[in-house]
Amino acid sequence: MLVKMNKKDINARPTREEAEESVRTLLAYLGEDVTRPGLIETPARVVRAWEEWCDGYKEDASELVGKFFDDIQGYDQPVIMRNIDFVSHCEHHMASMPGTAHVAYWPDKKVVGISKLARVVDVFAKRLQSQETMTKQIAEALHNGLSPKGVAVIIEAEHACMTTRGANKPDAHLVTQFFTGCFKTDLQAQERITALLSGAHRHK
Ligand SMILES: [Zn+2]
Repeated sequence: MLVKMNKKDINARPTREEAEESVRTLLAYLGEDVTRPGLIETPARVVRAWEEWCDGYKEDASELVGKFFDDIQGYDQPVIMRNIDFVSHCEHHMASMPGTAHVAYWPDKKVVGISKLARVVDVFAKRLQSQETMTKQIAEALHNGLSPKGVAVIIEAEHACMTTRGANKPDAHLVTQFFTGCFKTDLQAQERITALLSGAHRHK
């Protein structure tokens, strides 16, 4: 049974039962017998799994980055964290999008705890995403929260929607990058940070 929504309540959140019912509908559409024992609990499990894969919606990146340190003792060089693995899901197919993010910023008075860099990646990865949007969102969250000299983010990911179906290119990886501040305007700084970020091991 489809959940029918009129214009007025289009943003009203369906109940968990309605979400489970929609999974049952999809299973039946695929030709499954939704009453067979192996599938009885599947809709509930699928909904729980998606709640976990998409729990970035509950988090606010600006809150995370808002807890910074301002005693950096004259440290005036870029801070780089490579190889932050994540699993996101593409907004076009809801297919898995496992990848690796490399994140750098050049502080100007404020630094964040290093685990926050990884958590900011997850806040945006654990949503339905396009890789391009996610790259920009991570860079802008760090830029807005820390007012650094610049931020550089490079993401490399696989898209199951094209590695396992559609174009069927199992080894294709998409690489995206986003620069702010000095890394955007100073091409020498951009080249240097790109070399440092992509000296990382390649995903896979
Ligand atoms: Zn896709």
